[in-house]
Amino acid sequence: MWDALKATDVILIVKADAMKILLQFPEGLKQQALMHAKKLEAEGNEVVVSATPTFGACDLAIDEARNVKADKIVHFGHAEFHHVDFNVEYVPYDIDADMQILDRALEPLKPYSRIGLVTTIQHMHQLPKVADFFRENGKTVVMGKPYGFAKQRGQILGCDVGSATSIDRDVDAFVYFGGGMFHPLGALLMTTKPFLVVEPFQGSVEFIDKYRDVYRKRSRGKMLASADAKNFGILVTTKNGQANMAMARILKAKIEGSGLSAAILVSNTFDFDSINNMLEFDAFVNTACPRISIDDIDRTRKPLLSANELNEVLAIKKELAASPGKTLA
Ligand code: SF4
Repeated sequence: MWDALKATDVILIVKADAMKILLQFPEGLKQQALMHAKKLEAEGNEVVVSATPTFGACDLAIDEARNVKADKIVHFGHAEFHHVDFNVEYVPYDIDADMQILDRALEPLKPYSRIGLVTTIQHMHQLPKVADFFRENGKTVVMGKPYGFAKQRGQILGCDVGSATSIDRDVDAFVYFGGGMFHPLGALLMTTKPFLVVEPFQGSVEFIDKYRDVYRKRSRGKMLASADAKNFGILVTTKNGQANMAMARILKAKIEGSGLSAAILVSNTFDFDSINNMLEFDAFVNTACPRISIDDIDRTRKPLLSANELNEVLAIKKELAASPGKTLA
């Protein structure tokens, strides 16, 4: 088994039995592909590197591995998402972020005594120290139990923020420690308390609560724009952890049951230029990574709805049909 990598590691410490291996890296680690390939080749393995975009452990390159007859996939940067019927080795990637920035979180957190702490898999090893820091500064720290795909207390994924939602009632505010806005945004939208992002790479400390309203309005806008839609394209991915044909079939039946038309559109990674060429559709419904219908809505010319938003659209349509002349607010 491989040890977790550190951002500073330059040497692969792995000894594997000779085999055919497919290496898979998320975008931020692809720059290390050649180095890892050469190390494994030097041990007698045949190595192939997946050049396909990789979004998470929900997105294992199993088809590619089968195509090149690989014995195993070595997947870097993510923990196991769910069990798959293929030999996969996960190599986590720990990042040691500078914790001095935590001093700057104390002032904005002054009004709040119980804080909920969340982070990503890359910083889970730092979370106990982050928690100690806040405790030493008089805070009560709560880290929620993982639900769904997350495996550790306080860990969140872009699509699994149970560690935050489960403690929403128990805390006065949330603190996310880590890089980027992708993960905290998901947690923000599913919780109700003030949400402080402590971002050690950009050196920023800020409450992001304003985005709750921004995203609520965007969602409402999509639904209103879909009120006249007659033809719906339902997006289904073949990615191992995202594929949901069963849901797509249910949604198709619902749409058709409302007197409208729908088709299921399948792809591994959706190319939005290609989706935009499908001019017959008035709106699209996402059943893949739930973040697509939040983060990628500006990439399609037609509204890109979540399943919940579709349900609301169908309800709006029903209401309009029952009250001719009624306008939408
Ligand atoms: S947020 Fe999307 S890409 Fe990330 S783990 Fe979840 S399903 Fe995969």
